[in-house]
Amino acid sequence: MSLTLTVDGDRWRSHLRGVAEAHPGLVPVVKGNGYGFTPGRLARKSQWLGVDTIAVGTYEELPEVASRFDGSLLVLTPWRPFVADLAPELAGRVIHTVGRVEDVDALLTRQPGARLVLELLTSMKRHGFAARGLWDAADHLRRHRSARLEGVALHLPLAQGSHLGEVRRLMNDAVGAGLQQPGQGGLDTVWVSHLTATELTALRTSYADFTVRPRMGTDLWLGDRAALAVTATVLDVHEVERGDSFGYRGRTVPKAGHLLVVSGGTAHGIGLEAPTGGSSIKARAATLARGGLDAVGFVRSPFSIDDKQRLFAEPPHMQASMLFLPSGARVPTVGDEIDVRVRYTATTFDRIVLS
Ligand SMILES: *Cc1c(COP(=O)(O)O)cnc(C)c1O
Repeated sequence: MSLTLTVDGDRWRSHLRGVAEAHPGLVPVVKGNGYGFTPGRLARKSQWLGVDTIAVGTYEELPEVASRFDGSLLVLTPWRPFVADLAPELAGRVIHTVGRVEDVDALLTRQPGARLVLELLTSMKRHGFAARGLWDAADHLRRHRSARLEGVALHLPLAQGSHLGEVRRLMNDAVGAGLQQPGQGGLDTVWVSHLTATELTALRTSYADFTVRPRMGTDLWLGDRAALAVTATVLDVHEVERGDSFGYRGRTVPKAGHLLVVSGGTAHGIGLEAPTGGSSIKARAATLARGGLDAVGFVRSPFSIDDKQRLFAEPPHMQASMLFLPSGARVPTVGDEIDVRVRYTATTFDRIVLS
């Protein structure tokens, strides 16, 4: 009775191992909904993989992973003065990301022995220091002798051509800012995202003194889609005639067929898909002429039966969805499982079955 993620365990685990072996220093990212798997499960898998550090998105996510993974915990959202102090048992495990000069001083005043990485502003323009700010940050670090600088972090946009030029410029800024602090860990690590294997190799070659630590979520956890299957359960089937009314809004059925009630709704992250057949007036007129159901307002759903994507009879409900199956199509029976295409990062499953 559920929206289920079924994982081919052997295949998934061998993919995870392969990625970890190909990327020394890998930092699994376990934020958000845990890419569909939940952060807790990914924390345990990271422990199994044997990595020494994982990354969460927010401070609020720390408790769920801290008890399932015993290494270091990098928080990707930059620290701000309004972040609550860490529980003492976490303080030594957490690596803060810092992106503003004033926050270096504020954090180290509150937690003098804090572990931190300095984020550099990339072409993403999300968070981080520009070159000038790094000089000031280095100044602050010199004044807080027990601070533990764990490196610099770059959050790069998804690849549009090579990132290497930008990475080199930023690395030169960081080296030039005099962040090298004897006895304080120094600047010997760069944490990066979204670099290709070739770019990572080039970076390691150019900056041989540095440890390059790739943060990876999607390509790690979701990199082998064939290991994953998402299904919904058929909960009810109703034969309908043209003109029968149904649903929350009392719509009428445009032609004979079946209404299916299937598990999976807005609470799972199931949403409306783009209308079928293009949205131009001409395209809509063409579908109308063909008697297309989208022309009467039915919208494509992510559920498919017999490899054909089916239409929502009305927008998804909270935990279930109503589909319309025109007559002629094979009608599944209650209890059957049907395929669902989802965005894993936006989906909450009722059940995760890991073989
Ligand atoms: C989410 C995130 C990642 C991982 O991104 P994926 O595309 O899922 O691999 C890496 N770095 C930062 C800063 C992030 O916020």
